[in-house]
Amino acid sequence: MKDLLNHHPSAWPEIFAQMGVAKFHGRNAARWVFQRGAHSWTEMTDLPANLREQLQAEAPLGCAKLLTSSGAKDGAEKVLLELEDSATVEAVGMPGTAGRTVCLSTQVGCPVRCAFCASGLEGLGRNLSQGEILEQALWLRRAQGPFQRVVIMGMGEAGFNLDAVLGALDVLMDPEGFGMSARRITLSTVGPKGALPRIAEWGRPVTLALSLHAPDDALRHELVPGVAKRTIEETLTEVDELFAANGREYTVEYVLLAGVNDSPDQATALADLLFQRRCHVNLIPYNPVEETEFDRPSDYSMESFAKRLQDRGLSVTLRRSLGRQADAACGQLRRRQRPPSRPATEV
Ligand code: SF4
Repeated sequence: MKDLLNHHPSAWPEIFAQMGVAKFHGRNAARWVFQRGAHSWTEMTDLPANLREQLQAEAPLGCAKLLTSSGAKDGAEKVLLELEDSATVEAVGMPGTAGRTVCLSTQVGCPVRCAFCASGLEGLGRNLSQGEILEQALWLRRAQGPFQRVVIMGMGEAGFNLDAVLGALDVLMDPEGFGMSARRITLSTVGPKGALPRIAEWGRPVTLALSLHAPDDALRHELVPGVAKRTIEETLTEVDELFAANGREYTVEYVLLAGVNDSPDQATALADLLFQRRCHVNLIPYNPVEETEFDRPSDYSMESFAKRLQDRGLSVTLRRSLGRQADAACGQLRRRQRPPSRPATEV
Protein backbone atom coordinates (compact mmCIF):
# COMPACT_ATOMS: atom_id res chain seq x y z
CA MET A 1 0.00 0.00 0.00
CA LYS A 2 2.85 2.36 0.82
CA ASP A 3 4.14 2.45 -2.72
CA LEU A 4 0.75 2.47 -4.40
CA LEU A 5 -0.66 5.14 -2.11
CA ASN A 6 2.24 7.35 -3.03
CA HIS A 7 0.82 7.41 -6.56
CA HIS A 8 -2.36 9.01 -7.84
CA PRO A 9 -5.02 6.34 -8.56
CA SER A 10 -4.93 7.31 -12.25
CA ALA A 11 -1.36 5.91 -12.30
CA TRP A 12 -2.32 2.54 -10.78
CA PRO A 13 -3.26 0.83 -14.10
CA GLU A 14 0.20 1.59 -15.50
CA ILE A 15 1.89 0.37 -12.31
CA PHE A 16 -0.10 -2.86 -12.58
CA ALA A 17 0.93 -3.17 -16.23
CA GLN A 18 4.58 -2.87 -15.15
CA MET A 19 3.97 -5.84 -12.82
CA GLY A 20 2.56 -7.79 -15.77
CA VAL A 21 -1.04 -7.44 -14.57
CA ALA A 22 -3.94 -6.24 -16.75
CA LYS A 23 -4.52 -2.50 -16.35
CA PHE A 24 -8.22 -2.84 -15.50
CA HIS A 25 -7.24 -4.65 -12.29
CA GLY A 26 -5.39 -1.45 -11.25
CA ARG A 27 -8.54 0.63 -11.68
CA ASN A 28 -10.55 -1.98 -9.80
CA ALA A 29 -8.00 -2.09 -6.94
CA ALA A 30 -8.13 1.71 -6.58
CA ARG A 31 -11.92 1.53 -6.29
CA TRP A 32 -11.58 -1.16 -3.60
CA VAL A 33 -9.15 0.95 -1.56
CA PHE A 34 -10.56 4.46 -1.88
CA GLN A 35 -14.26 3.85 -2.31
CA ARG A 36 -14.90 0.49 -0.64
CA GLY A 37 -12.31 0.79 2.13
CA ALA A 38 -10.34 -2.44 1.52
CA HIS A 39 -7.16 -2.72 3.59
CA SER A 40 -5.84 -5.96 2.14
CA TRP A 41 -5.73 -7.75 -1.18
CA THR A 42 -7.63 -10.67 0.32
CA GLU A 43 -10.70 -8.44 0.75
CA MET A 44 -10.84 -7.82 -3.03
CA THR A 45 -12.90 -10.90 -3.73
CA ASP A 46 -13.41 -10.23 -7.44
CA LEU A 47 -9.66 -10.39 -8.11
CA PRO A 48 -8.42 -13.89 -9.06
CA ALA A 49 -6.85 -15.71 -6.10
CA ASN A 50 -3.45 -16.13 -7.82
CA LEU A 51 -3.39 -12.38 -8.61
CA ARG A 52 -4.12 -11.54 -4.98
CA GLU A 53 -1.18 -13.73 -3.96
CA GLN A 54 1.09 -12.02 -6.50
CA LEU A 55 0.03 -8.55 -5.31
CA GLN A 56 0.48 -9.57 -1.68
CA ALA A 57 4.08 -10.55 -2.49
CA GLU A 58 4.93 -7.60 -4.75
CA ALA A 59 2.85 -4.72 -3.35
CA PRO A 60 1.61 -5.57 0.16
CA LEU A 61 -1.23 -3.37 1.37
CA GLY A 62 -1.15 -1.51 4.68
CA CYS A 63 2.26 -0.44 5.97
CA ALA A 64 0.73 1.51 8.90
CA LYS A 65 -0.55 -0.46 11.89
CA LEU A 66 -3.28 0.78 14.19
CA LEU A 67 -1.82 0.75 17.71
CA THR A 68 -4.61 2.37 19.72
CA SER A 69 -7.86 4.17 19.24
CA SER A 70 -9.08 6.37 22.11
CA GLY A 71 -12.24 8.41 22.40
CA ALA A 72 -13.52 11.39 24.40
CA LYS A 73 -17.09 11.82 25.66
CA ASP A 74 -17.67 14.55 23.09
CA GLY A 75 -17.27 11.97 20.29
CA ALA A 76 -13.74 12.91 19.14
CA GLU A 77 -11.63 9.83 18.57
CA LYS A 78 -7.88 9.67 18.10
CA VAL A 79 -5.95 6.89 16.37
CA LEU A 80 -2.27 6.18 16.95
CA LEU A 81 -0.59 4.59 13.94
CA GLU A 82 2.80 2.92 13.76
CA LEU A 83 4.60 3.43 10.46
CA GLU A 84 6.97 1.08 8.67
CA ASP A 85 10.07 2.54 10.39
CA SER A 86 8.36 2.36 13.85
CA ALA A 87 7.70 6.13 13.88
CA THR A 88 4.23 6.92 15.23
CA VAL A 89 1.67 9.46 14.17
CA GLU A 90 -1.73 10.53 15.51
CA ALA A 91 -4.88 11.53 13.64
CA VAL A 92 -8.32 12.50 14.93
CA GLY A 93 -11.95 12.12 13.85
CA MET A 94 -14.56 14.52 15.24
CA PRO A 95 -18.34 14.69 15.00
CA GLY A 96 -19.96 17.95 13.86
CA THR A 97 -23.24 19.37 12.65
CA ALA A 98 -22.16 18.94 9.03
CA GLY A 99 -20.89 15.38 9.52
CA ARG A 100 -17.59 13.92 10.65
CA THR A 101 -14.30 15.75 10.20
CA VAL A 102 -10.92 14.06 10.16
CA CYS A 103 -7.76 15.90 11.18
CA LEU A 104 -4.61 14.53 9.52
CA SER A 105 -0.92 14.91 10.37
CA THR A 106 1.77 15.79 7.82
CA GLN A 107 5.01 15.19 9.72
CA VAL A 108 6.34 13.10 12.60
CA GLY A 109 6.84 15.89 15.15
CA CYS A 110 7.10 19.47 13.91
CA PRO A 111 10.02 21.83 13.27
CA VAL A 112 8.02 25.00 14.01
CA ARG A 113 7.96 24.35 17.78
CA CYS A 114 5.03 26.62 18.65
CA ALA A 115 5.31 27.46 22.34
CA PHE A 116 1.82 26.15 23.20
CA CYS A 117 1.80 22.94 21.14
CA ALA A 118 2.69 19.36 22.05
CA SER A 119 3.51 18.38 18.45
CA GLY A 120 6.67 20.47 18.28
CA LEU A 121 8.13 19.56 21.69
CA GLU A 122 10.77 17.22 20.24
CA GLY A 123 11.18 19.01 16.93
CA LEU A 124 10.93 17.24 13.58
CA GLY A 125 11.27 13.47 13.24
CA ARG A 126 10.63 13.28 9.53
CA ASN A 127 8.17 14.17 6.79
CA LEU A 128 5.27 11.83 6.12
CA SER A 129 4.86 10.49 2.60
CA GLN A 130 1.71 11.05 0.55
CA GLY A 131 0.73 7.45 1.29
CA GLU A 132 1.23 7.85 5.04
CA ILE A 133 -1.04 10.92 5.04
CA LEU A 134 -3.71 9.03 3.09
CA GLU A 135 -3.42 5.99 5.36
CA GLN A 136 -4.57 8.14 8.29
CA ALA A 137 -7.78 8.94 6.39
CA LEU A 138 -8.24 5.27 5.45
CA TRP A 139 -7.75 4.09 9.06
CA LEU A 140 -10.05 6.76 10.49
CA ARG A 141 -12.77 5.80 8.02
CA ARG A 142 -12.34 2.13 8.90
CA ALA A 143 -12.39 2.83 12.65
CA GLN A 144 -15.11 5.47 12.76
CA GLY A 145 -17.07 5.39 9.52
CA PRO A 146 -17.33 7.86 6.62
CA PHE A 147 -16.20 11.46 6.99
CA GLN A 148 -17.37 14.58 5.20
CA ARG A 149 -14.57 17.07 5.90
CA VAL A 150 -10.77 16.94 6.10
CA VAL A 151 -8.58 19.39 7.97
CA ILE A 152 -4.81 19.28 7.60
CA MET A 153 -4.21 20.52 11.13
CA GLY A 154 -2.65 17.56 12.95
CA MET A 155 0.99 17.09 13.84
CA GLY A 156 3.47 18.87 11.56
CA GLU A 157 3.68 21.93 9.32
CA ALA A 158 2.21 21.21 5.89
CA GLY A 159 4.21 24.06 4.33
CA PHE A 160 7.44 22.13 4.89
CA ASN A 161 6.12 18.99 3.18
CA LEU A 162 4.07 20.30 0.29
CA ASP A 163 4.86 17.65 -2.33
CA ALA A 164 3.35 14.92 -0.15
CA VAL A 165 0.52 17.08 1.24
CA LEU A 166 -0.70 18.44 -2.11
CA GLY A 167 -0.38 14.95 -3.62
CA ALA A 168 -2.56 13.54 -0.82
CA LEU A 169 -5.12 16.34 -1.29
CA ASP A 170 -5.24 15.61 -5.03
CA VAL A 171 -6.16 12.00 -4.20
CA LEU A 172 -8.75 13.08 -1.62
CA MET A 173 -10.42 15.28 -4.25
CA ASP A 174 -10.18 13.00 -7.26
CA PRO A 175 -13.29 11.01 -8.32
CA GLU A 176 -11.04 7.91 -8.52
CA GLY A 177 -9.81 8.68 -5.00
CA PHE A 178 -12.05 9.81 -2.13
CA GLY A 179 -14.09 12.06 -4.43
CA MET A 180 -14.29 14.96 -1.97
CA SER A 181 -15.11 18.55 -2.86
CA ALA A 182 -12.23 21.00 -2.39
CA ARG A 183 -14.65 23.09 -0.35
CA ARG A 184 -14.68 20.42 2.33
CA ILE A 185 -10.92 20.53 2.81
CA THR A 186 -8.94 22.96 4.99
CA LEU A 187 -5.18 23.26 4.77
CA SER A 188 -3.50 24.87 7.76
CA THR A 189 -0.07 26.48 7.68
CA VAL A 190 2.04 29.05 9.51
CA GLY A 191 3.12 30.29 6.06
CA PRO A 192 6.85 29.42 5.84
CA LYS A 193 8.83 30.98 2.99
CA GLY A 194 7.66 29.80 -0.41
CA ALA A 195 4.67 27.76 0.83
CA LEU A 196 1.81 30.17 0.11
CA PRO A 197 2.93 31.03 -3.46
CA ARG A 198 3.27 27.28 -4.15
CA ILE A 199 -0.26 26.63 -2.86
CA ALA A 200 -1.54 29.54 -5.01
CA GLU A 201 0.16 28.04 -8.05
CA TRP A 202 -1.41 24.63 -7.30
CA GLY A 203 -4.70 26.53 -7.52
CA ARG A 204 -7.24 24.11 -6.00
CA PRO A 205 -9.98 25.96 -4.04
CA VAL A 206 -9.36 24.39 -0.64
CA THR A 207 -9.74 26.68 2.36
CA LEU A 208 -6.47 27.97 3.72
CA ALA A 209 -6.12 28.41 7.48
CA LEU A 210 -3.29 30.72 8.45
CA SER A 211 -1.99 30.02 11.96
CA LEU A 212 -1.24 33.53 13.20
CA HIS A 213 -1.57 33.48 17.03
CA ALA A 214 -0.24 37.01 17.60
CA PRO A 215 -1.00 40.52 16.33
CA ASP A 216 2.65 41.70 16.15
CA ASP A 217 5.90 40.25 14.83
CA ALA A 218 7.78 40.19 18.15
CA LEU A 219 5.14 38.09 19.91
CA ARG A 220 4.55 35.87 16.87
CA HIS A 221 8.26 35.09 16.64
CA GLU A 222 8.18 34.05 20.31
CA LEU A 223 5.07 31.90 19.97
CA VAL A 224 5.80 30.51 16.48
CA PRO A 225 9.62 30.38 16.37
CA GLY A 226 9.75 28.37 13.14
CA VAL A 227 8.79 31.44 11.11
CA ALA A 228 10.95 33.94 12.98
CA LYS A 229 12.30 35.40 9.72
CA ARG A 230 8.87 36.15 8.26
CA THR A 231 6.82 39.26 9.00
CA ILE A 232 3.08 39.10 9.51
CA GLU A 233 2.55 41.69 6.79
CA GLU A 234 4.44 39.73 4.11
CA THR A 235 2.62 36.56 5.12
CA LEU A 236 -0.81 38.23 4.95
CA THR A 237 0.08 39.74 1.57
CA GLU A 238 0.80 36.24 0.26
CA VAL A 239 -2.49 34.94 1.65
CA ASP A 240 -4.32 37.82 -0.07
CA GLU A 241 -2.62 36.78 -3.32
CA LEU A 242 -3.77 33.22 -2.73
CA PHE A 243 -7.33 34.51 -2.34
CA ALA A 244 -6.94 36.36 -5.64
CA ALA A 245 -5.77 33.09 -7.26
CA ASN A 246 -8.37 30.62 -5.95
CA GLY A 247 -11.24 32.86 -4.81
CA ARG A 248 -11.56 31.16 -1.43
CA GLU A 249 -11.82 33.24 1.70
CA TYR A 250 -9.25 32.09 4.24
CA THR A 251 -9.41 31.62 7.98
CA VAL A 252 -7.03 33.07 10.54
CA GLU A 253 -6.32 30.73 13.46
CA TYR A 254 -5.53 32.36 16.80
CA VAL A 255 -4.92 30.28 19.94
CA LEU A 256 -5.95 32.37 22.97
CA LEU A 257 -3.39 32.29 25.80
CA ALA A 258 -4.26 34.04 29.08
CA GLY A 259 -2.14 37.12 29.71
CA VAL A 260 -0.07 36.55 26.55
CA ASN A 261 -2.14 37.42 23.46
CA ASP A 262 -5.68 38.02 24.77
CA SER A 263 -5.68 41.66 25.92
CA PRO A 264 -8.13 44.27 24.58
CA ASP A 265 -5.21 46.14 22.93
CA GLN A 266 -4.13 42.95 21.19
CA ALA A 267 -7.68 42.39 19.97
CA THR A 268 -7.65 45.92 18.52
CA ALA A 269 -4.24 45.34 16.90
CA LEU A 270 -5.50 42.07 15.36
CA ALA A 271 -8.63 43.83 14.08
CA ASP A 272 -6.43 46.53 12.50
CA LEU A 273 -4.34 43.87 10.76
CA LEU A 274 -7.32 41.98 9.36
CA PHE A 275 -9.68 44.88 8.65
CA GLN A 276 -11.15 44.54 5.13
CA ARG A 277 -9.24 41.36 4.43
CA ARG A 278 -11.29 38.40 3.01
CA CYS A 279 -10.94 36.22 6.05
CA HIS A 280 -12.79 34.63 8.93
CA VAL A 281 -11.17 34.52 12.38
CA ASN A 282 -11.14 31.28 14.39
CA LEU A 283 -10.36 31.90 18.05
CA ILE A 284 -9.15 28.70 19.69
CA PRO A 285 -9.11 28.43 23.49
CA TYR A 286 -5.72 27.05 24.58
CA ASN A 287 -5.79 23.30 25.25
CA PRO A 288 -3.55 22.27 28.16
CA VAL A 289 -0.22 20.62 27.34
CA GLU A 290 1.64 19.28 30.38
CA GLU A 291 5.06 20.63 29.40
CA THR A 292 3.92 24.21 28.77
CA GLU A 293 2.99 26.91 31.27
CA PHE A 294 0.16 28.70 29.55
CA ASP A 295 -3.38 29.07 30.82
CA ARG A 296 -6.69 29.20 29.04
CA PRO A 297 -8.30 32.67 29.34
CA SER A 298 -11.61 33.00 31.19
CA ASP A 299 -14.79 32.70 29.12
CA TYR A 300 -15.45 36.40 29.75
CA SER A 301 -12.02 37.38 28.45
CA MET A 302 -12.36 35.21 25.32
CA GLU A 303 -15.85 36.51 24.58
CA SER A 304 -14.69 40.13 25.04
CA PHE A 305 -11.78 39.49 22.65
CA ALA A 306 -14.18 38.04 20.07
CA LYS A 307 -16.60 40.96 20.48
CA ARG A 308 -13.89 43.54 19.84
CA LEU A 309 -13.14 41.87 16.51
CA GLN A 310 -16.83 41.59 15.63
CA ASP A 311 -17.37 45.25 16.46
CA ARG A 312 -14.81 46.06 13.75
CA GLY A 313 -16.86 44.07 11.24
CA LEU A 314 -14.82 40.86 11.29
CA SER A 315 -16.44 37.46 11.04
CA VAL A 316 -15.39 35.49 14.15
CA THR A 317 -15.90 32.05 15.67
CA LEU A 318 -14.89 31.21 19.22
CA ARG A 319 -14.17 27.56 18.69
CA ARG A 320 -15.53 24.77 20.83
CA SER A 321 -12.61 22.40 21.48
CA LEU A 322 -13.38 18.76 20.83
CA GLY A 323 -11.22 15.92 22.09
CA ARG A 324 -9.66 17.46 25.21
CA GLN A 325 -10.31 14.34 27.30
CA ALA A 326 -8.43 12.20 24.79
CA ASP A 327 -5.58 14.72 24.33
CA ALA A 328 -6.87 14.96 20.78
CA ALA A 329 -7.68 18.66 20.71
CA CYS A 330 -5.86 21.30 18.72
CA GLY A 331 -2.20 21.54 19.78
CA GLN A 332 -2.35 18.32 21.83
CA LEU A 333 -1.23 15.77 19.23
CA ARG A 334 2.28 14.47 19.80
CA ARG A 335 4.81 11.77 18.97
CA ARG A 336 4.11 8.78 21.17
CA GLN A 337 5.79 5.49 21.88
CA ARG A 338 4.13 2.20 21.07
CA PRO A 339 2.35 1.08 24.28
CA PRO A 340 4.68 -1.70 25.52
CA SER A 341 2.24 -4.41 26.50
CA ARG A 342 -0.87 -3.60 24.52
CA PRO A 343 -1.71 -5.45 21.35
CA ALA A 344 -2.83 -3.52 18.32
CA THR A 345 -6.52 -2.66 18.48
CA GLU A 346 -8.66 -4.61 16.05
CA VAL A 347 -11.16 -2.55 14.13
S1 SF4 B 1 0.84 24.40 16.16
FE1 SF4 B 1 1.17 23.40 14.17
S2 SF4 B 1 2.99 24.44 13.35
FE2 SF4 B 1 2.95 24.89 15.54
S3 SF4 B 1 4.24 23.27 16.50
FE3 SF4 B 1 2.10 22.57 16.55
S4 SF4 B 1 1.88 21.33 14.69
FE4 SF4 B 1 3.72 22.60 14.42
